Amino acid sequence: MSEPLLHSCAPRLFYIRTFGCQMNEYDSLQVLRQFTALGYAPVEDMGRADVIFLNTCSVRGKAEQKVHSFLGSLRRLKEAKPYLKIIAGGCVAQQLGRKLLDRFDHLDMVVGTRAVNSIGRLLQQLEETGARGVFLEDEGHIGLGFQCGEILPQKGITAPLTIMQGCNNHCAYCIVPSVRGAERSRRPEEILEEIGLLERSGVREVLLLGQNVNSYGRGLEEKIDFSGLLRRIVAETGLSRIRFTTSHPKDLTEDLMDCFAELGPLCKYLHLPVQAGSDRVLARMNRRYTAAAYLEKVDRLRRLCPEIALSSDVIVGFPGESEEDFRKTMELIEEVRFDNLFSFRYSDRPGTRATAFEDKVEAQTAAGRLAELQGRQAEISLGKNLAEVDATREVLVEGPSKASNGQMTGRTSQNKIVNFDGPLSATGKILRVRISVAYSHSLKGEPL
Ligand code: SF4
Repeated sequence: MSEPLLHSCAPRLFYIRTFGCQMNEYDSLQVLRQFTALGYAPVEDMGRADVIFLNTCSVRGKAEQKVHSFLGSLRRLKEAKPYLKIIAGGCVAQQLGRKLLDRFDHLDMVVGTRAVNSIGRLLQQLEETGARGVFLEDEGHIGLGFQCGEILPQKGITAPLTIMQGCNNHCAYCIVPSVRGAERSRRPEEILEEIGLLERSGVREVLLLGQNVNSYGRGLEEKIDFSGLLRRIVAETGLSRIRFTTSHPKDLTEDLMDCFAELGPLCKYLHLPVQAGSDRVLARMNRRYTAAAYLEKVDRLRRLCPEIALSSDVIVGFPGESEEDFRKTMELIEEVRFDNLFSFRYSDRPGTRATAFEDKVEAQTAAGRLAELQGRQAEISLGKNLAEVDATREVLVEGPSKASNGQMTGRTSQNKIVNFDGPLSATGKILRVRISVAYSHSLKGEPL
């Protein structure tokens, strides 16, 4: 048996640390809901927690190193508070399983991404028995993760919502299919029900999440694809705004592109990861589109919806990337002029095909290419933001700005952050704001 619970009349406190992507943030929300339903209370000071849940990310080497060093740093806390329970979830947990438990003897439990729906039950079990364990089972269903009617009031007016998990694509550099498993979509009714609950708790904007939302619906009994789901959400809910991520370019259908022109609440913003501008590199990455096919889709999107903003991901220094290949990536970003770009240096992820490729790019060369790409993109992003000055944009106000004292912050439909002077009571409203100043990553404006 574990040690008796201390302070039995006060609620036990839990702390969640999330590494990585928005999918992980959504999973952390599910953990928060389940722990709260058990009577635990969230705490922002990790030192006061009785339970620590660490949601890990293994998508890049750097992120995984951070997880390992954070886990190591918890040893002293556990020595000072032996009753503290430490749980590791997320992709590193799914991937390493027992190895993680063996490596960190102060870790109590490892819960993989496919077992996160059972986290409440597993915590209870841990509290009752004190037995360390590894739980990675695939329950084959992405449930709501909480009882209907028990949803917590949302902190913000925007909320993430996972509509599918897993991926069938097997890009050569990506660990996701092996840790998140094959694609599974949630039923539309379940998604609509969760949106209803979110709306009742004050949410006005939902971010639909999936590793590849464009393949939503495959395998469901009901015949529905992602554009069909978007149309149902617009018809059956009162959401002011809908966003989604991530989209695989090869699965971006004409019907889905039409949605940007047709559906008012669908934000005019698309994150469409290109990864490289060279067809040779794209083929080795197993992306299954060419640069020309990508550019054609961008062209069609802009014809259908001229105000659309685009962002993308690029991996620099993929094995075998020559100087000529890299120049093609630079040409592509010059041609598209993305509003925003997330760029990374390739790193080996154990268990992926690219790890076995022998023609690795020298670290210094890859770092130089990344710096060049990021430098140029910073100029393009600033130029795009400068073009916003004097325009009037509708801004969904999210609340006080963390960066600038006394200011409020919100986003345009194009996902641009706008800070402005305004009252707290504007939170949750859509205001018309005239843009007055542009920075690289945000805008400043005056409400009209
Ligand atoms: S589409 Fe490719 S990069 Fe995206 S999750 Fe699937 S395998 Fe990974």
